[in-house]
Amino acid sequence: MNTKEKDSKYIMGTYGRLDLELDHGCGSTLFDADGKKYIDFGSGIAVNTFGACDPEWVKAVSDQLAKLQHASNYYYTKPCADLAEMLCEKTGMSKVFFSNSGAEANECAIKGARKYGTDKNPDKNIIITLKNSFHGRTVTTLSATGQDVFHTSFTPFTEGFVYVEANDCDALKGAMSEKVCGIMFEIIQGEGGVLPLTAEFIKTAEEMAAKYDALLVVDEVQTGNGRTGTLYAYEQFGLKPDIVSTAKGLAGGLPLGATMFSEKVENILTPGTHGSTFGGNPIAAAGALSILSRIDEALLDTVRKNSEYMIEKIMKIDGVTAISGMGFMLGIETEKDAKEILKKCLKDGLLVLTAKDKVRLLPPLNITREEIDCGLEILKNAIETL
Ligand SMILES: *Cc1c(COP(=O)(O)O)cnc(C)c1O
Repeated sequence: MNTKEKDSKYIMGTYGRLDLELDHGCGSTLFDADGKKYIDFGSGIAVNTFGACDPEWVKAVSDQLAKLQHASNYYYTKPCADLAEMLCEKTGMSKVFFSNSGAEANECAIKGARKYGTDKNPDKNIIITLKNSFHGRTVTTLSATGQDVFHTSFTPFTEGFVYVEANDCDALKGAMSEKVCGIMFEIIQGEGGVLPLTAEFIKTAEEMAAKYDALLVVDEVQTGNGRTGTLYAYEQFGLKPDIVSTAKGLAGGLPLGATMFSEKVENILTPGTHGSTFGGNPIAAAGALSILSRIDEALLDTVRKNSEYMIEKIMKIDGVTAISGMGFMLGIETEKDAKEILKKCLKDGLLVLTAKDKVRLLPPLNITREEIDCGLEILKNAIETL
């Protein structure tokens, strides 16, 4: 049996896989099992922050791997403590809880907000989330996800979520009460179609949170770690969140989630209220230290400039009607079918993603101009010839 046949026979059929078996890569260039070359505009869904097998990252991870792979949270490990310090120093947040994925980082954020509310009043447990959002695949994060399509088959779901239309300030105001303990949102809805929130809506959320003593919870699982041209996307709105969750790109390709808490809620989760066997794993933490220490102003400036360069070139493609997003998180609206564009690009040696009816681009932050040009040429040809 080849890989594809084995996969179909033995792996639970939850994924609609594309006909591609990836084998290895170097930076933003990947190779399949037959040696065919692909430019990577997807980073494994915003995970491979510095592309495939970045040498500095490989060394950091390998060095830790050869020292100690896991310790359990009964003990201290240096990479985990160093990473928490780096996250707090770079963001101004006060405490971090480490887990292994975006959904887990959000579970912790939700528990934090609920703990904050119910410590004051057992009825203060409502979390407002946005319609069309995406927060993960566990039963509670599916419940937090404001899309009806996700609310089937697994009933009963976790109660206590109220969904508000994104960017509808009046709807948000109308949903507020003393029972609300948190307002949770993505700055740019990723899976929902690369839809940014407006500055006005974000400001209203901040005001409502202050007025009703609710926490501002920002899901930066996809937008975080340099993706949008700043370390975290909320920085671009002058926002001071109480809780920030992140995962995807944090460790550059290893499973790691982080939930960051501001000073106001730095002691909200007390001994015994939360935990994770693998959370803060030293290998993942060593990988994250290598990534995070290099997401500096110079790199972010390059991301912003390359983003502008890409947007300008993409807008000139015949059939492109609009572009949304920030930095290296871009959604392209075209007159063609996004899935067909993805398939044509794949055939021609370019990996792109889709989000709803848009083509979604999430290239590695250190992609070269040459790789960008090569990828855009394939994208242009796909859109114009379909
Ligand atoms: C991907 C994603 C998640 C879920 O992350 P997993 O690591 O798949 O659990 C949650 N929130 C957002 C915004 C995401 O993009």
